[in-house]
Amino acid sequence: MDIPAVFLWALFAVLGVCFGSFFNVLIYRMPREMSIIKPASHCPDCKQKIPFWHNIPILSWLLLGGRCASCKKSISIKYPIVEFLGLSLGFAAAFIAEPSPWQNANLIESISLFWLIVTLIPIFVIDFKYLLLPDTVTIGGILLGFALSFFEGSIGWPSSLIGIAACGGGLFLFSVICSKILKKEGMGFGDVKLFAGFGALMGAELAYVSLIIGALLAIAVIVPYRLFTKKDMRSPLPFGPFLGLAAPISYLFGNTIIAGLGV
Ligand SMILES: [Zn+2]
Repeated sequence: MDIPAVFLWALFAVLGVCFGSFFNVLIYRMPREMSIIKPASHCPDCKQKIPFWHNIPILSWLLLGGRCASCKKSISIKYPIVEFLGLSLGFAAAFIAEPSPWQNANLIESISLFWLIVTLIPIFVIDFKYLLLPDTVTIGGILLGFALSFFEGSIGWPSSLIGIAACGGGLFLFSVICSKILKKEGMGFGDVKLFAGFGALMGAELAYVSLIIGALLAIAVIVPYRLFTKKDMRSPLPFGPFLGLAAPISYLFGNTIIAGLGV
């Protein structure tokens, strides 16, 4: 399908807001082990259900002055910020996929980039805060990657399937070996599922490039941080954000990196 990039920029910005709105629900409810479907949106203070016209991303918060319409308690600015972040990242993904407005955008590439970039919001917030990765993001990535692989211009379903097995299986094995050697829980299963999703979306080769980049990023940030704050080096740390950040980098530049290294 041929769509001029400028329409995709707009579409992905709107889609980004919707994702942001959903991530707000996910960020609030997942660590509390609440369902993400039921109950419908309600004020955490007065428990009043929020009608949809008071639940329009960003706008409602601004129009209501950041307060609940029924009890007037203030509603955190975190909600519109996450929605605005979704908008910006959605637009950025479409813009990176095709920066000239009237050029036709590659839809598979655009959707893949959108997913890899926009899901960084819950990956960062939830993993840093609670050391968890939501299934909606990790298993969702596996399903999306595999589904896209049946369309023209994708990596093709055999590569996607190999990607899931090689990445999910590989990291799972690594995690089991590590926990045996270090005698403590190794990598979380969330990271394994997240990585399997990258394999599904970009194939095993590029996904493993993202694993290397993610590990380097993690070392570059965590070692100085631990030394500076004198935190225990053995306390658990989130790997998801670093792996997540590495994924769009590898998706865009992985082949150049591989060619440059001559491997
Ligand atoms: Zn209220």
